[in-house]
Amino acid sequence: TVGTISLDAHGSMAAGTSTSGLFMKEPGRVGDSPLPGSGFYVDSAIGGAAATGLGEDIMKGCLSYRIVALMGSGLSPQEACDSAVYEFDDLLRNRYGKVGEISMIALNKRGEWGVATNVEFTFCTARKGEQIRILMANPDGKGGTR
Ligand code: ASP
Repeated sequence: TVGTISLDAHGSMAAGTSTSGLFMKEPGRVGDSPLPGSGFYVDSAIGGAAATGLGEDIMKGCLSYRIVALMGSGLSPQEACDSAVYEFDDLLRNRYGKVGEISMIALNKRGEWGVATNVEFTFCTARKGEQIRILMANPDGKGGTR
């Protein structure tokens, strides 16, 4: 899945996803990516979030909505991503003994971003007039990236 969140010069935000779904998925399966709240969510007054990974698990947590709600209650995008991903990862591990891959990106209305993952994933940041940055995130980088 490729997920995007954008903020324009007028303060309007948008989020979107494009996905092939999971490899070898059952015919008719609908993952998280087309579902607002799970695969993506945005509120221009707060910020947006988008997901990639195992849709069945991402949907259980409505993680994109959860991250936007956490940003709405005052957390930075990085704090919101860390909180949503690692608390939900712990919850699923404790409850089911396993958890799928979960990677989340977030951007707030001030243009601050955050990411969190329980695996490893590559993401990009772009700002008008600046070069696109390609970065790697992993679980050790809680609160940061390398
Ligand atoms: N989240 C997608 C799905 O479960 C798959 C992916 O991110 O690669 O359909």
